[in-house]
Amino acid sequence: MSLIVMKFGGSSVGTPERMLRVANRIMERQKEGNEIVVVVSAMGDTTDDLIDQSKALNPHPPAREMDMLMTVGEQISIAMLAMTIDGIGGKAMSFTGWQAGMQTDNSFGKSKITNIEPSRIFKALEAGNVAIVAGFQGVSDAGEITTLGRGGSDTTAVALAAAVGADVCEIYTDVDGVYSTDPRVVKNARKLDEISYDEMLELANLGAAVLHPRAVEYAKHNNVRLVVRSSFTRNEGTSVKEEAIMEQGIVVRGIAFDKNVARISIMGVQDVPGVLANVFGALANNGIDVDIIVQSGVQDGKADFSFTVSGTDKDKAISVIEGIRGAVPYRETDSEDGLVKVSIVGAGMVSNPGVAAKMFEAISTLGVSIKMVSTSEIKCSCVIASEALNEVVKSLHTAYGLDTEEQVFVGGPAERR
Ligand code: ADP
Ligand code: ASP
Ligand code: MG
Repeated sequence: MSLIVMKFGGSSVGTPERMLRVANRIMERQKEGNEIVVVVSAMGDTTDDLIDQSKALNPHPPAREMDMLMTVGEQISIAMLAMTIDGIGGKAMSFTGWQAGMQTDNSFGKSKITNIEPSRIFKALEAGNVAIVAGFQGVSDAGEITTLGRGGSDTTAVALAAAVGADVCEIYTDVDGVYSTDPRVVKNARKLDEISYDEMLELANLGAAVLHPRAVEYAKHNNVRLVVRSSFTRNEGTSVKEEAIMEQGIVVRGIAFDKNVARISIMGVQDVPGVLANVFGALANNGIDVDIIVQSGVQDGKADFSFTVSGTDKDKAISVIEGIRGAVPYRETDSEDGLVKVSIVGAGMVSNPGVAAKMFEAISTLGVSIKMVSTSEIKCSCVIASEALNEVVKSLHTAYGLDTEEQVFVGGPAERR
């Protein structure tokens, strides 16, 4: 008998028909002789709708109350799924994050799992139930309800799989697996049979929504067998594992993009030791993540530098910088949003010079200007104007030999992000 964690995303349970299909699939897996723990997300666009409703009441709602609100979405799903399973003759019990023993730290909206105490899950399984756990939520030491960040149900599933010692964690979604890029953007994207944890982590961190980055981190550190597959088809999915076979001649495994990037520049900064520490220290203290940083040459003792933040953080970042003008004198700031970051990822890049040059060439051939660049051994990212995103991704996909003739399955409408 195997112990399996099956996770279903929002679009997989978005309608009563889809909920029923999922319930049948769970029962099938149980009848094969397996014990089943299910993690489920909020139905369809529920989380987005809740956020929109809250913003209509208060554009800056308190983070604690946002988590209280958003966790409702998953609580609806678990009860609905348990009822559906009961309705087709199965046995299921639903659990909120805290009932499932999902303990987190206290940072609302982006909390981290600190411990899992799954005794109630084991009890439910022993009594022959499918145990259904609400994704994306937990409880802090202070007894507060918390969430793990958008897309966090994947992380609940993988962390739970590690905690209960599951044989495999299956992530069921609305595409057939992990593709060379988002198949909604490139129709002839290639489905990957397998991908290494490191490459997947990089793709997820760089914007590939198919897996939550922290889920991949958990899988890697706890050696969880992770499979991404479709809840709509029976096709084989993608295995995420320690080492993945490199296809011959493929240096770039995938292309990811982040659609919500803003650039901030600070011009005419007095070039004295400690300036960068002051600026980025202040941003970090205000919970703002900074991504690419570029400093240009110093002239007359003054430097200019630019960095990127999430578009959502742009205004807050500018006001933080204005707030430290006394400690860090500068001439002016400048900012730009509506930018995207496109990244190529592949473990083979490190031993292949010229991979980045090919990226710059492909982008410039389209007449698109590259605003910022950042590289590491396994990826190269370029910031460009958002209008150019689709043509740039398609052109890079072809340039790195990733196109395939095969038909891509994309089930259901894209979720709003
Ligand atoms: P779920 O609701 O099941 O968690 P998500 O919307 O979070 O689903 O993730 C699945 C989506 O991820 C797909 O519909 C696809 O548009 C997007 N995606 C982005 N990059 C990739 C990729 N490299 N491979 C597969 N899907 C991707
Ligand atoms: N419902 C949450 C979200 O929409 C969590 C998830 O789907 O993973 O972000
Ligand atoms: Mg998701």
